[in-house]
Amino acid sequence: HMVTVRYADGKGWYEPRVEARAPIPMDPASAVLHYAQEIFEGLKAYTLPDGGVAMFRPDANAARFNLSAQRMAMPSLPVETFVQSLHEIIKIDRSWIPEDPEGSLYLRPFAYASEVFLGVRPATEYLYLVIASPVGPYFSGGVKPVSIWVSSDFTRAAPGGTGAAKCGGNYAAGLSAQAEAAEHGCDQVVYLDAVQRKYIDELGGMNVFLVLDDGTLVTPPLTGTILPGITRDSVIKLAQRAGRTVEERPISLEEWRDGAASGRVREAFACGTAAVITPIGVIKSEAGDFTMGDGGPGDTTMSIRKNLVDIQRGRAEDPFGWVHRVL
Ligand code: PMP
Repeated sequence: HMVTVRYADGKGWYEPRVEARAPIPMDPASAVLHYAQEIFEGLKAYTLPDGGVAMFRPDANAARFNLSAQRMAMPSLPVETFVQSLHEIIKIDRSWIPEDPEGSLYLRPFAYASEVFLGVRPATEYLYLVIASPVGPYFSGGVKPVSIWVSSDFTRAAPGGTGAAKCGGNYAAGLSAQAEAAEHGCDQVVYLDAVQRKYIDELGGMNVFLVLDDGTLVTPPLTGTILPGITRDSVIKLAQRAGRTVEERPISLEEWRDGAASGRVREAFACGTAAVITPIGVIKSEAGDFTMGDGGPGDTTMSIRKNLVDIQRGRAEDPFGWVHRVL
């Protein structure tokens, strides 16, 4: 199925509907096709041990959706409308939620400029939709470290750009970098900052953490050029609650490489909704390659991963009330 809600200036959001998933008619002059005013979110619905269905922190996705909307000069959507739309699609598509406790129903809320208009100004009409698709476990056959390519040709976002917004244009601009990573035999691209080309920003679709030899976690700060990941925020809050030091500060590629050689940087991992947490194994760049430890998953990474996945799946205490039960 799909959920649709329309918007027009002066009228606000109107006509919420749940209907059979079908193509959406679009005029060739629909503003989004020319000026790319489009934003989206991604989250999962999954089965709890008691047979119920839950989502993880959908209110955080709603808040980020509205930050993206603000950056792209789009109208904000009430948090209740966002969360309610997810409830609707989960209820009607419940039979698509995998029974496998690691599987899920991926939810994709998005909105775009539907006004028929050629000209560079914010549109006055928008369409919000939710579609859903079942997904299996991200790792079948055990967690496997990712290899990453440090792009020297491309950056993801410059100061004042759209890096902190989840807009389609960011991903379009990243496709060449992702292709470059694949040519170097890597799973994902890692971007350096656009100004000094020195500091780590994030991966194509995940945030980055280093684990230091004293157990401290270090992650790049939210300065507007990276996506404020909900998994990133959850990792920080859980680590701090467990008494671990977390530093949000710039990490240079040099610090990472030298630290990997000296043992100061013990582990590295990436995090995002799809994989939750994945170890980073090999880091390749034009300046040479290096490997984290023996290239296998680190103990701290795996214990943080287990802690977070167990909370999400209802197998461990949920200290922050993050698990949002739907059914
Ligand atoms: N950075 C980028 C560029 C992403 O696309 C994602 C995935 N949404 C993330 C980070 C991780 O965000 P989250 O933990 O909210 O999935």
